Amino acid sequence: MTDSKKAPARPALKAVRGTRDLLPDQTPLWNHVETTARNLFARYGFGEIRTPVFEATELFARGVGEETDIVSKEMFTWEDRARAASEKPQTLTLRPENTAGVVRAYIEHQFANSGALQKLYYIGPQFRRERPQRGRYRQFWQIGAEVIGPPSSGSESPLRDAEILEMLATLLDELGIRGWQLELNSVGSAQDRVHYNETLRAALQPIRSQLCADCQRRADTNPLRVLDCKVPEDQPLIDTLPRIADHISADSRAHFDAVRAALDACKVPYHLNPRLVRGLDYYTRTTFEFTVTTGLGTQNALLGGGRYDGLSEMLGGPRAPGIGFAIGEDRLILTLQAQQQEDARTSGAASANLLDAYIAPLTPAQNPAALALARELRAANLKIEVGDGSFKLRKSFETANSLARHIILLGEDEAGSELYTVKTFASGEQVKVPRANLPELLAGV
Ligand code: AMP
Repeated sequence: MTDSKKAPARPALKAVRGTRDLLPDQTPLWNHVETTARNLFARYGFGEIRTPVFEATELFARGVGEETDIVSKEMFTWEDRARAASEKPQTLTLRPENTAGVVRAYIEHQFANSGALQKLYYIGPQFRRERPQRGRYRQFWQIGAEVIGPPSSGSESPLRDAEILEMLATLLDELGIRGWQLELNSVGSAQDRVHYNETLRAALQPIRSQLCADCQRRADTNPLRVLDCKVPEDQPLIDTLPRIADHISADSRAHFDAVRAALDACKVPYHLNPRLVRGLDYYTRTTFEFTVTTGLGTQNALLGGGRYDGLSEMLGGPRAPGIGFAIGEDRLILTLQAQQQEDARTSGAASANLLDAYIAPLTPAQNPAALALARELRAANLKIEVGDGSFKLRKSFETANSLARHIILLGEDEAGSELYTVKTFASGEQVKVPRANLPELLAGV
């Protein structure tokens, strides 16, 4: 048979640009982060909500805002086929964020009828067609929460803002994130923003032509977004623009002062950032971001959020002020991994995630006994891998050393005497132990 008869080799398929696989050496950290968050949210009275990953495009157009980068450039949108000839095809979108979906669900399930404050959290993937780079993906995960309810439930209270911020500070501390900084601002009420937008539009006219192309467009469509600009040459000019903090109403000012007083009482440090307006149209009053110094480079925003008092009404629901946040889980993980590497460099310790033991049957005849022993040890909550009796002893030792802290040798003698030879790799020590003492030995470091 000649080579020319073989089918041509097919190129191997790869994950789509901006998406990635989370492999078994990474998922334990993801699970740890999610479990820590779930436990903490439960202590603050939050319940989990899971909304669909796709929704009607109109939800995001109305909820997030047509003029935002997310809606105007970054959504994965498609036209769904009509189910019946009489139906119009529906335009659908992979969710670029989860707040709009949660508020839609709040309205759809008539949560407002109970009159109670709702505390909801979610963990899940979001989708944005952004230019992929470190810390910025097209499918990424967010851990977020929303506090929403009718005004009579206290949903507008500055206490809720401070509670959310204090909870986030606690979460980052519990996860061991170092050097986080809370950036805080108030963008005022929707009414304040209408006035401020006009002031900003007027102030932008004389300097408009000196700004980047994006800002020239924003100066007309959404002047507030100019404050978000990251182009270095624009910064000195943007710093001369009127500050939103000087243009908010007395009510909004008092609300912000009360948020700050509660944060001070809880000893949560923050940094006032008058330019923090955030990209989404629905924000009112308190806006915030947490940034970090390790591991993220230019994408240093770990999470963001704010108050959205008018969002429910924008989506056709009752008046239901609220506040929420979304943590970039991918970025949280990158930060923790960078910190672990930093720690390993300074302490010289390997950040290994090893199994407790590797069981090496010495011949294929011991395979069943090896599996039975593994079953018993796993039931004792130990992490165990089983080799194969056909492997050479040297190969078993090499594999065991890369995977586990101990190797258990299982030959004919051991199977008969119930006395096992165990080697601890860290110390090089080798002992014979009775079966009943194995869990205690293996659980030790
Ligand atoms: P936003 O929904 O834009 O307020 O984003 C909230 C957080 O989600 C940000 O602070 C980031 O940590 C994270 N995030 C936003 N976009 C991306 C992305 N494309 N890739 C990874 N994380 C993202």
